Amino acid sequence: MRFKTVCTGCSLLCDDIIVDLEGEKIVSTFNLCGHGEEKFLRARGTERLLKPFVRSRDSVREVSISEAIEKAAEILLNAERPVLWGWGSSSVEAQIAGIELAREIGGVIDSTGSICHGITWLAASESGLYTATLGEVMSRADVVVYWGSDPGHSHPRHLSRYSVLSRGIYTQSGYEQRRVYVFDIRRTRVGKIANVLIEVEPNKDYELITAMRLILRGKKLQFDSVAGVPIKTIEKVIQEWKERDFGVVFYGMGLLASRGKYRNLEALLKLVWEMNEYTSFVALPMAGHFNTIGFNHTATWVTGHPSGIDFSRGAPYANPGETTFVEMLQRGEVDAALIIGSNPMSSFPTELARKLSQIPLIVVDCFRTLTVKHATVAIPTAITGIEAGGIAYRMDSVPIILREFLSPPESILSDADIIRSIIEKVKRKN
Ligand code: SF4
Repeated sequence: MRFKTVCTGCSLLCDDIIVDLEGEKIVSTFNLCGHGEEKFLRARGTERLLKPFVRSRDSVREVSISEAIEKAAEILLNAERPVLWGWGSSSVEAQIAGIELAREIGGVIDSTGSICHGITWLAASESGLYTATLGEVMSRADVVVYWGSDPGHSHPRHLSRYSVLSRGIYTQSGYEQRRVYVFDIRRTRVGKIANVLIEVEPNKDYELITAMRLILRGKKLQFDSVAGVPIKTIEKVIQEWKERDFGVVFYGMGLLASRGKYRNLEALLKLVWEMNEYTSFVALPMAGHFNTIGFNHTATWVTGHPSGIDFSRGAPYANPGETTFVEMLQRGEVDAALIIGSNPMSSFPTELARKLSQIPLIVVDCFRTLTVKHATVAIPTAITGIEAGGIAYRMDSVPIILREFLSPPESILSDADIIRSIIEKVKRKN
């Protein structure tokens, strides 16, 4: 049987994937990149988490799903400062249930986005956000800028589907019609096909963007170079951008994680805003996990805040740095955590991972990750987009419907159903 489906390998959510099935087995796929193919093949791989378990002091015991859910509810209710973290690889339905659970237990809910692309919301609230859909980019963009992002690694089909190689209504000549600019601290994969490659000194993005804004306003700078980039080059780039019809800046973690953090993005968004006095210019995040952007939308629409939402005072309250997971963990404030679809044990610095290993951990995941290995309670879940349906937001904030085409092994529940079951238990115990 043949299915057309969506890949959840990254936030590009490619919706042209063809899968051939023989019974419950994937026999061939079309249009997936290597990254997406790996995700599809892992669905029937050996690293799946199939049985729930509960860890007591020195033993691990396989339990039924209802016992695991009961234990999870107990941990959350006994905690003073529980945090629900992850959500970038969960459906919108699971995220809404997660917010309800946080409200029910008076806890904090935060997403992986608060340490990556969630800060788009912070920066945009101060400088506005000129944006567009990827379809518009494909049809109109004749300037494509990658700033601190390398889609060759993170979103392998980005160039071919939407930005550089694709042909749209007004970009019939494709690559020949577009100018590609790459700003990075090193020569990345995408740098190899750039028309203009700007090597920025590490941690100097803010200085460079500020210089670009001044040059755009017609100021003459009294230096030879800024952030290692000659002033003449900056002037030439700005002049080229002004003369073109439509520009798009795809920004990634290279910009957001360099010194200045969200202030870098705020400055970049202002530059984009100011470019619109001369031509059309937009900015788009190169978000990683397939529904990172979805959490920010869902949380903003349900609570008024994009991430790090604290329900301990009754009404939702958020203050980045105060109610965000990483900082709370650093301060030793968290006394229980529910981690969903995320692997902080392998991605956090050692000191934070050690702190995480010292508190009761409920882990909801499809795979046996390092975080699952440290779980007090582990609950397997169906893979969203393969074994469970739902909604996810693409990197350009377009909602995409995901449909299941395989049955989950061992009748595992979807992440949304697991969270709803925990809510029911919590309500009964409360
Ligand atoms: S680019 Fe991303 S969404 Fe598209 S096939 Fe590759 S991993 Fe999947």
